[in-house]
Amino acid sequence: MSRKQVFQFLDLPRTMPQRIPLELRTSGDWGEMYGRFALPEAQHQAGRCLDCGNPYCSWKCPVHNAIPQWLQLVQENRIEEAAALCHTTNPLPEMCGRVCPQDRLCEGACTLEEFGAVTIGAVEKYIVDTALEKGWRPDLSEVQATGKRVAVVGAGPAGLACADVLARNGIQAVVFDRYEQIGGLMQFGIPSFKLEKSIVARRRDVLEGMGVQFHLGVEIGRDLPLEQLLEEYDAVFLGTGAYRYTDGGLQGQDLKGVLPALPFLVQNGRIVGGNDPWGRPIAGWEDTIALPDMAGKRVVVLGGGDTGMDCVRSAIRLGAAKVTCAYRRDEANMPGSAREVANAREEGVRFLFNRQPVLIEGDADDQVIGVQVVETRLGEPDERGRQSAVPIEGSHSLLEADVVIIAFGFSPTVPDWLAAQGVEGTPNGRIIAGGGALGDNGRLPFQTTHPKIFAGGDAVRGADLVVTAVAEGRDAASSIALMLNS
Ligand SMILES: Cc1cc2nc3c(=O)[nH]c(=O)nc-3n(C[C@H](O)[C@H](O)[C@H](O)COP(=O)(O)OP(=O)(O)OC[C@H]3O[C@@H](n4cnc5c(N)ncnc54)[C@H](O)[C@@H]3O)c2cc1C
Repeated sequence: MSRKQVFQFLDLPRTMPQRIPLELRTSGDWGEMYGRFALPEAQHQAGRCLDCGNPYCSWKCPVHNAIPQWLQLVQENRIEEAAALCHTTNPLPEMCGRVCPQDRLCEGACTLEEFGAVTIGAVEKYIVDTALEKGWRPDLSEVQATGKRVAVVGAGPAGLACADVLARNGIQAVVFDRYEQIGGLMQFGIPSFKLEKSIVARRRDVLEGMGVQFHLGVEIGRDLPLEQLLEEYDAVFLGTGAYRYTDGGLQGQDLKGVLPALPFLVQNGRIVGGNDPWGRPIAGWEDTIALPDMAGKRVVVLGGGDTGMDCVRSAIRLGAAKVTCAYRRDEANMPGSAREVANAREEGVRFLFNRQPVLIEGDADDQVIGVQVVETRLGEPDERGRQSAVPIEGSHSLLEADVVIIAFGFSPTVPDWLAAQGVEGTPNGRIIAGGGALGDNGRLPFQTTHPKIFAGGDAVRGADLVVTAVAEGRDAASSIALMLNS
C-alpha cells in the first residue's frame, strides 16, 4: 500500500451523508434526516479504515460485526457480498446503521476517532439499502429443514433476530405480536426522522422470504394462552420488551398539558410518521392520548435518554416556540446518543443539565404552567456505576412551560400468564434468563426458569438498545437450536 493510501484518512475527512436542511427539519419535515451515500462517498469513507489489525470497532459492537471486512468489500464495490457479510452477525443491519449510538459503540472505538472515526453506521446503511434495492436477499438454499417449530412472542428487534437465526438453522419460526405491524419500538416508538417505517416493512418481506411466519394482531396471554404455544411448539422465545413507565411520582404529573413520553411519540407517529395502523392502543395506555397543539408553545422535556431526545426533536417539528430538555446529571452522563444531542441542539433545543424536577406547577384550571427544578451536583456512583445527582439546597427555580413531557424511561414486567408457567423475574421485573445480563445461572444462555421458554432483549436486560436486543435474540436462538438439535 502506498504512503498516500495509508494516510488518506488525513486528506479525506470523516463525512456523514447529506442531511435534510435545517429549515425543513424545524418546519415539520418528518422524513429521515440523513440521506444515503452514493457509491464514491461510501468508498471514500470505507477507504479511511486503517484495517488496524485489532478491530476494536468489532469488539465494541454488541453483535461483533465484521466491520473492517465489509468496509474492504465496499472499496471493491462488492456490495452484495458486503450485505451478506453484514447479515452473518446482524439480521437488522439497515436499522442499526440508522439508530445505533455509533459514537458510543463502533465509531467511538475506531482507531481514527481522534481524526474523525470512519462513518461505519452510514456505510452499513448504504450497503444494506443498496443490496436490498437491487434485489439481494439472504440465501438459505443450503439450509436443511429440521421439522422443529418455535413460537416467537414479540416482533421487536429481539424477536426478529431470534426468528432470523432460527430460520438459518432450519427451524420454523412463527412470530406473534399484539400489533398489526412488525418492529416493536422501531415501528411505533422511534420517530420516522430517525427510521422511516417503509424500512421496517421491507424487513418483513425479507424475513417472510426466509420462511419466517408472522401472526400479527395476536396478544399472547389475552388472545392466545401461552399453554397453547407450549403444547404446539418445540420452544417459545419471549421478546416482549419493557413497557412499565418509570413513575417519577412528581406532584402535578396529572395536570393538563403533562404527557408521558411514549404515548406522545406513538400518537404523534400515527399522525405524522407513517407508523399506523397497528390496530390497538399501546399496552398500558388503553386510550390514545389527546395531543395538545404545540405550535408556538413552550415545551419542557424531563429526561435525557433516547426517548427524551425523540420527544424534544418531535416538539420542534410540531412547531413549539421553545423546547427545553432538563436532565439531572451533566452532559457527559447523559444516556442519549451524543449525535442525537447534537442534532437536537442544532434544531434549537436548549439543554439544562444538572437540573432535577421537584414538582410540576399548575394554574387554577389545572393547566400546567411550569416545572420546579433544583440544581444538582454529581455524587457517589450508584449500583450501576453512574454518579448520583445530589440536589443543591436553595437552588430551586421554575421552568415555565405550556407542555411538559416526562421521559424517565421504562422497565419490563413479568405478566401473570408468564409467572403462572414458572417463569421467574427479578424484583424490578426483568425475566431471569441464563447467561444474559444477569450472569451464568446453570441454564443455557437466555433460557428462563421454564426449560422450554427462552427470553431476550429489553424484557431481560431492561430498556436498552436495538442492537443489544438483536444480540440477545440471536444468542437465544442459538441456545434453542442447540437444545432442539441435541
Ligand atoms: C422512544 C424510543 C426511542 C428509542 N430510540 C432508540 C435509538 O435511537 N437507538 C436504539 O438503539 N434504541 C432506541 N430505543 C430502544 C429500543 O427501541 C429498544 O431497546 C428495542 O426496541 C428493544 O427491543 P425488544 O425486541 O426487546 O422490544 P420491543 O422493541 O419493545 O418489542 C417488543 C414487542 O413485543 C410485543 N409484545 C409484548 N407483549 C406481547 C404479548 N403478550 N403478545 C404479543 N406481542 C407482545 C410488543 O407489541 C412489541 O412489538 C428507543 C426506545 C424508545 C422507547
